[in-house]
Amino acid sequence: ANVMIGPINKLNAVMEMYPKGIAGFRRYLDLLNMKPEQEDNPNAIHVEKLKGDIEYKNVVFGYENKDKVLNGVNFSIRAGETVALVGPSGAGKTTICSLLPRFYEIDNGEISIDDYNIHDLTMASLREQIGVVQQDVFLFDASIRENIAYGKLDATDEEIWEAAERAQMTTIIKSLPEGLDTLIGERGVKLSGGQKQRLSIARMFLKNPAILILDEATSALDTETEAAIQSALAELAVGRTTIIIAHRLATIKEADRIFVVTENGIEEEGTHQELLQKKGAYSRLHHAQFDFDYAGA
Ligand code: ADP
Ligand code: MG
Repeated sequence: ANVMIGPINKLNAVMEMYPKGIAGFRRYLDLLNMKPEQEDNPNAIHVEKLKGDIEYKNVVFGYENKDKVLNGVNFSIRAGETVALVGPSGAGKTTICSLLPRFYEIDNGEISIDDYNIHDLTMASLREQIGVVQQDVFLFDASIRENIAYGKLDATDEEIWEAAERAQMTTIIKSLPEGLDTLIGERGVKLSGGQKQRLSIARMFLKNPAILILDEATSALDTETEAAIQSALAELAVGRTTIIIAHRLATIKEADRIFVVTENGIEEEGTHQELLQKKGAYSRLHHAQFDFDYAGA
């Protein structure tokens, strides 16, 4: 099946998105690979497959005309490792992650993947190797098939079903009036929050990036739906470098390492047990924010 999304559809989609605000619009253009301002360096290298080692060295960044949000962030993540970023709202967790696919350019310091400075990689090789799952899942006004295939535009039906299976959404698709051909989005069937997340996970199985960023992907879902999706997300993370921004203790505890992000940068790092024993920022955050989870567990 040929499921290319044509230029007219792209344009329609962009026009529809524009009233939803600049933040959404930016993300949108990016999804469509239409953001022109970050261009390849003249000598940029195209790397087909990255391993996914990540290093941030003294990364300084501020949004236009504003104070610096990051004042020298340092960390490294080994390929295949799962790291959870925790910290107060506004500390810069999302910002840290947005710099990796070059949604924004850093003011100082260096970010590298597998020892390549990200500026020395082509935008295509960089973005093909980074998958982002967020709270808002962007849906095209198109069929389920086209929406899943956004992860890999030339995917066959077989590949699409396999991705759907791994995202645990085949039952959902089979229950829809026209299966994969069912139209979703503005003018089609409305999907629930959990169903959208599964679709977004299916896209990622097709895209198969070396690096996965889960930015509060399930935080808008009710506890039951969230729990149901965790296993699909866990399977998605296997064999990839995964950065999770989350506030549910159950998710954070599973991470290989936890980074505590505050206005001072990465204030602490370690496993859940190590950080609790330290009785520092993580331990304080833990008591302030996670009591609810214990009560509900
Ligand atoms: P977190 O994800 O930890 O909650 P963010 O990275 O979203 O934090 O935000 C860090 C700081 O940057 C906040 O002060 C926030 O208001 C600001 N900020 C985030 N996104 C933008 C943006 N697009 N333009 C300007 N300021 C922003
Ligand atoms: Mg955030």
